[in-house]
Amino acid sequence: MASLLHRPYNFSAGPAAMPEEVLAQAAGEMLNWPDASGKRCGMGVMEMSHRGKEFLSIYTQAEADLRELLSVPANYRILFMQGGGLAENAIVPLNLSALKKDAMGRGAADFVVTGSWSEKSFAEAGKYCQAKLAAKADGFTSIPEASSWQLNTDASYVHICSNETIHGIEYHSLPDLKTLGSKAELVIDFSSHVASRSVNWNLVGLAFGGAQKNLGPAGLTLVVVRDDLLGSAMEICPSAFNYQTVAKSDSMYNTPPTYSIYMAGLVFQWLKRQGGIAAMEAANVAKAELLYRTVDGSGFYFNPVQRDCRSRMNVPFFLRDASLNDAFLAGAKEAGLLQLKGHKSVGGMRASIYNAIPLAGVQALTAYMQDFERSHG
Ligand SMILES: *Cc1c(COP(=O)(O)O)cnc(C)c1O
Repeated sequence: MASLLHRPYNFSAGPAAMPEEVLAQAAGEMLNWPDASGKRCGMGVMEMSHRGKEFLSIYTQAEADLRELLSVPANYRILFMQGGGLAENAIVPLNLSALKKDAMGRGAADFVVTGSWSEKSFAEAGKYCQAKLAAKADGFTSIPEASSWQLNTDASYVHICSNETIHGIEYHSLPDLKTLGSKAELVIDFSSHVASRSVNWNLVGLAFGGAQKNLGPAGLTLVVVRDDLLGSAMEICPSAFNYQTVAKSDSMYNTPPTYSIYMAGLVFQWLKRQGGIAAMEAANVAKAELLYRTVDGSGFYFNPVQRDCRSRMNVPFFLRDASLNDAFLAGAKEAGLLQLKGHKSVGGMRASIYNAIPLAGVQALTAYMQDFERSHG
């Protein structure tokens, strides 16, 4: 099916496809931004003061829309920061590891390593606190049973990556630390599945994610944090990365990534027009089912991830005959299916099917996969 602007489908893992309606709207507003009443203000969004009434209205609307979409409770703060998911690997321990301290004043945190991203988080946190490995999945094709995690009583928080973008592993329900006997806070890196499904905030102390997978352009980092976790940052924490400082100034301690916030705000409005997160989740389930069914139903392709934790957003798949990889990718490009090459650390293919990829895009992909199998199988 032809897309709005006759563009190919883009399966990039991130920065990733944006909804075409949003790109078209931003193009129309690029030179001279109109307010909600349609009145043009004479400037483009990236030329505005972040403290002016025009940008403040964009900011306030974006925050309110996100709070509504993700059902963020009133006692959680939404912070629009910079630095990406990787900077948060340092910023989270700088802010939260000292919620509990030992006699030496050092905090601790537990890590569940299920793929490349949680592995990076674990390594980085060790610079700022005692980072402890609570569990690690062999080969990154499953999530260790939560009841087997070695949780430490001195841990201030437990870090998980709720969707491993590279290995295609997703928690389909979040662990309830209380029932596991832990008094720590749950921290989730939800970079690559935020806004694809609902979040049970009762279980979560802090969630963070870079915007460039499922929310908008790179440059914006979203942090959602329960307000009682603010104010325990380590002394060495940079002021611009101190959640309390950022929260007190409504993400305006320093200049926020204004254009990325505006674009994410347009995505939030688009999500509301699609019917919100429940409607997106249903669409994402249908897209993922079609793709996994196609992979599993063939003897030509395979996906090694245990079925109960397969990602709905990032679907790695492999050709059994890897010598056909280049031909597969070349044919895909020809068919209008872009950026399917798997991450270099795992090889094969990966289709990232974020919110902006319609079912028609996955149908085009699976039709191509079946054609390719018929001609090469
Ligand atoms: C992409 C990604 C990151 C890294 O984000 P940057 O913005 O590049 O720092 C971290 N965690 C997850 C799960 C990701 O998908």
